[in-house]
Amino acid sequence: MKLSNAPPMSSEPDGLIFSVQRMAVHDGPGWRTLVFLKGCPLRCRWCCNPESWISEPELAFDSAKCIGAKKCGFCIGACPHSAILVSKQNGSIAVDRNRCCSCGECVDYCPSNARHIYGNRVTAPELLEIVEKDVMFYSRSGGGVTLGGGEPLLQIDFVTRFLDLCKKNGLHTAVETCGAVPWSNLERAVPSIDHLFFDVKSTDNELHKQYTGVPNQLILNNLQKLCSNYPELKLTVRIPVIPEFNDSPEQIKPIIKFLRSQPAISNIELMPYHRFGIVKYNTLNRAYPMEKVTPPSPALLKVLREMIPSGTRQRKEDF
Ligand code: SF4
Ligand code: SF4
Repeated sequence: MKLSNAPPMSSEPDGLIFSVQRMAVHDGPGWRTLVFLKGCPLRCRWCCNPESWISEPELAFDSAKCIGAKKCGFCIGACPHSAILVSKQNGSIAVDRNRCCSCGECVDYCPSNARHIYGNRVTAPELLEIVEKDVMFYSRSGGGVTLGGGEPLLQIDFVTRFLDLCKKNGLHTAVETCGAVPWSNLERAVPSIDHLFFDVKSTDNELHKQYTGVPNQLILNNLQKLCSNYPELKLTVRIPVIPEFNDSPEQIKPIIKFLRSQPAISNIELMPYHRFGIVKYNTLNRAYPMEKVTPPSPALLKVLREMIPSGTRQRKEDF
């Protein structure tokens, strides 16, 4: 086979994002635009963004919005892969996940917005153009752009290119990471990050594996290296407080002890478990693993908050 010598269409690395939220007031100072990237190495049982897991576009189908094959059924003819299931009994619609390749052909045919593809490819200049729409709010409030996910640092070529562009254009940058990425990815990104949010979930390796699907060694090693190699970095550690996993002084204590041994950490925040993501599990045909779990009580959160060393900031709405 003869290979083409033609240069690639574009040398710009593209990224896969699934949401852009404007005017956010958390996840960094001031008013912020949050950009969520697709793909994550963890599978935390409490995850509120299950649409972030897979590094490919993904079809979501909201059966509550669908008006059914008897009144509509436009998606059936639109799908080139015969991936629409129709109930013979009542004409209700479902997705055959074994056939659906998330091509998105059905989405525009749906009059009730029951179909949505999570995942759009953008280049860094294209994303910059999107976030710069809010530049007036950033400059007035001291805000900027925050990359979350998923795990943004998995898409390191795209992320470093985008962060560099932000810095060249005077935008404040923040990144949220689960920490389970190669150290070289962190090294590449950190010079263009103004504020890094780093999750620490448990120091108990077996428990960590059981609830997130991965061991914690890489995460803790990366945090130690960040603290020793980048002592000037603005670094907030976030601890999710998850019932059955770490919602006790006995589980939080060793985390705090570990963090106290890392003097470069400027802030520690507790992130209480919530259930806002459950609907999304349904639209992706996934079971929600913490169906019977309820959020931690204010009284418990108060006890855990008091374990955090004074001088570290905590989110006001947590308590
Ligand atoms: S995303 Fe593509 S394959 Fe999946 S149901 Fe829609 S049209 Fe069919
Ligand atoms: S096009 Fe939309 S509303 Fe119509 S049957 Fe298909 S999913 Fe339901």
